[in-house]
Amino acid sequence: MLEVMRCLDEELRKSPAPDVKAYKVIRVLLEASINALEKGNQDPQTFDRATLLEICDPKVRAAGRDPARWLPTTTLETFLDARMNSIRRRAEQMGLKHLPVIASSEAKGGAGNQRIYWLTTQPIENSDGGSLTGQAFRQIIYTRTENGEVKPALFLRLIFREGVLENRSWRGVMMLLTVLLGMGFLSLWVFASLWSLSTIDQALTLRQLVISVLVVFLAWYIWRGVHQPWVELIDNRVVKAPAPLLSFKEDSAELEMYRDDDKRPWTRFVRFSSDCPFCGGRILLAEGRPDHPVPLVGRCGESPHAHVFSFDRARLSGVYIGPRLQA
Ligand SMILES: [Zn+2]
Repeated sequence: MLEVMRCLDEELRKSPAPDVKAYKVIRVLLEASINALEKGNQDPQTFDRATLLEICDPKVRAAGRDPARWLPTTTLETFLDARMNSIRRRAEQMGLKHLPVIASSEAKGGAGNQRIYWLTTQPIENSDGGSLTGQAFRQIIYTRTENGEVKPALFLRLIFREGVLENRSWRGVMMLLTVLLGMGFLSLWVFASLWSLSTIDQALTLRQLVISVLVVFLAWYIWRGVHQPWVELIDNRVVKAPAPLLSFKEDSAELEMYRDDDKRPWTRFVRFSSDCPFCGGRILLAEGRPDHPVPLVGRCGESPHAHVFSFDRARLSGVYIGPRLQA
């Protein structure tokens, strides 16, 4: 048993995925198992979800996330399944007859019910039957961060309180004016520089040409990065938030426009994410282009072009739309 756990330990060390939740959880289970086994303790080292959340992500725990939502039922199994081929090869090389698997208490519903997890082993021959196949594999559910969880850039925090902005408040009007003014200045700049070219009597020098091309290019870049998302937001409801609008600590987030119960429009910074059903990696929204003709798709951080999912904002769900799978 100890050998099997060491085999898994080696596998995880050889291809680490420190930002994948399932990876962190399995490491916790594994370290507890190895420690116990080294002391001659053969009992399963069990953990409930609340404890795992506390160990792996104390910040999220402090934010009051429900442990059952944080760690959906098959997340760990999926992660281990995705790596099973590699683990099996390693185990066979080491001459082992068993493979590591995730065991959990069968949850029978009810809010107070705490599912517990531990690591165990099973004989190599039987390990094929356990893997998930078919339709269940291709559907994902997205989670949306709570208001205030995604931090906008410092200069936007005055306008977006807790990452949220009511469009028809004075702050909303200020935001709209800022964006419109920005667009105005940008187009003025381009026109001015082109105008100054047209008033020159002599032939264009290369330098003038290069400068005006640079101006147009820069203006286009600023438009794409700063202004276009706000325009697209009105039509698309969700757009990728440009990096300059986000706090340094945020790597990926979205802008969402939504209506409250009184039909008033709001804008907020959010992040939609999910767990990849193929490999347990983290799915974040990304541009659909070039391989998908939709603005936003969910892409798995571990395999961004193979594990691709659609994004349905209203139902917070997605289905697999990546390359054709082998039957
Ligand atoms: Zn994946």
